[in-house]
Amino acid sequence: MGILEAGSPYQSPLKEKRIMNFFEYRGQELYCEDIPVQKIAEKVGTPFYLYSASTIERHFNVFSEAFAQVHHLVCYSVKANSNLAVLKLLGEMGAGADIVSGGELFRALRAGIPGERIVFSGVGKRVDEISDALAAGVLMFNVESREELFTINETAGQMGRRAPIALRVNPDVDPKTHPYISTGMKKNKFGIPISEALLLYREAVELEWIEVVGVDCHIGSQLTTSEPFAEAVTRLMGLVREMEAEGIPVRYFDVGGGLGIVYNEEEPPLPANYAEAIIDALGAGDRILILEPGRVIVGNAGILVTRTLYNKRGATKNFIIVDAGMNDLIRPSLYDAYQEVVPVVKKDREQTVVDVVGPICESTDFLARDHKLPAMAPGELLAVLSAGAYGFPMASQYNSRPRVPEVMVKGDRYEVIRERESYEDLVRGEKFF
Ligand SMILES: *Cc1c(COP(=O)(O)O)cnc(C)c1O
Repeated sequence: MGILEAGSPYQSPLKEKRIMNFFEYRGQELYCEDIPVQKIAEKVGTPFYLYSASTIERHFNVFSEAFAQVHHLVCYSVKANSNLAVLKLLGEMGAGADIVSGGELFRALRAGIPGERIVFSGVGKRVDEISDALAAGVLMFNVESREELFTINETAGQMGRRAPIALRVNPDVDPKTHPYISTGMKKNKFGIPISEALLLYREAVELEWIEVVGVDCHIGSQLTTSEPFAEAVTRLMGLVREMEAEGIPVRYFDVGGGLGIVYNEEEPPLPANYAEAIIDALGAGDRILILEPGRVIVGNAGILVTRTLYNKRGATKNFIIVDAGMNDLIRPSLYDAYQEVVPVVKKDREQTVVDVVGPICESTDFLARDHKLPAMAPGELLAVLSAGAYGFPMASQYNSRPRVPEVMVKGDRYEVIRERESYEDLVRGEKFF
């Protein structure tokens, strides 16, 4: 089955023949599961994020089942989409969580994900975050520097509680993705250079309040081939063999996240192929595999719905000005990322090339550039596809714009899972001086 076909675990952006599961046109109308998107827009106003629960479930199942032959734990990367309803849905399906802050720990616990299924990553863990994570009994800390290791040891000592750790190893492989989202090359701030890892592990096993339990890496995001993952695992396995030869235990092998999705013309590997590449590179052993997928679970499970405000003819370009901006969805501005944009109700009108831009006072405020769209009248709705990952969590209130609501659909039922912010929310906590 081609990855672009209906039924593929990767829902591709919805174009005529490339159907996104659970988001489809029925007649002229875009549906999310069994509800017309327009109907939700009438109720909640625009802009808003819309997620399909069935899609999230499907992605999680396809991903997890790809690793069925090995003992594994899928720790969903909370930063991709951290809404409590999303976390609860995944937690109830057995997912753990990959967190990068005390705030994400709070969210994961609040959503019912137990500490023993949480791994704590990130280069800058503060002492209060470390002690909260120890108190929650997290599965392990993915340690990113020697100083952090010693801080964790000290904090654990004060609490009288040993801290399970892995070192996040930087394997120096090129993930061949956008430079802003590659993390496993020598020049990146992340992890411990693989050439220094064994020395630091030797120090770690001598520390009173540290328990070495694993190895970890995370080489980047939106990878569209399996080879860099296999290469990273192979390099880390070299280290694991050296560690085990010295009697340093490696119970958990954490390969991080990073599997890419279809935004436009990408052809990322299927979860089964990705899993095969990783399992092959791992070889035999009874280690528990940890995976930290984010984007692949939620990316194509969500859209951003926005309303046309104005059409504008520029000197060299034409613009559709909509009510969502870069503060709502920053990926196009930040990474020059492609997002598919489609009408919520299909129009039999002539298509023209336009930029879809927001109301923010920045030239980088665009959602799509040089995009073919039918003429849109003021008030008509557009859907920005593939917006379920790194969409809402990266939203800000820039230009004093309240953050938009998030809505979840399951079958013919929908729920506002985060309310639209009010103007009062904008000034909450502020004081006159
Ligand atoms: C962001 C991140 C992930 C998830 O990456 P995706 O590309 O969304 O799968 C996993 N692990 C760590 C440490 C991360 O920082």
